[in-house]
Amino acid sequence: MGYVMLWLFMGLLGAALGNSKGRGGDGFCLGVLLGPIGVVIVVLLSPKGRVCSFCKSSIHSEASVCPHCQREQPKQESNSEDDRMRQVEESTKLF
Ligand SMILES: [Zn+2]
Repeated sequence: MGYVMLWLFMGLLGAALGNSKGRGGDGFCLGVLLGPIGVVIVVLLSPKGRVCSFCKSSIHSEASVCPHCQREQPKQESNSEDDRMRQVEESTKLF
């Protein structure tokens, strides 16, 4: 029983750590599945999304308001998807 509790605790710890990187779900899964090793992986994971320009917390790439400081986020200038499309367009123009 204590073992299960410990694993659940690892899941919650992973979720808490992952949450600051926008990876709460990933963190929980890793913590529950791999225990302490999963928690270490969560710590090493690169944050998903981007960083709030005001409080420097990691937020979802499509968030318009930061969940940490409630500030409105400036619109992203370059969308990676758009950039890729533009690159494809430019490369096809050569032919
Ligand atoms: Zn913020």
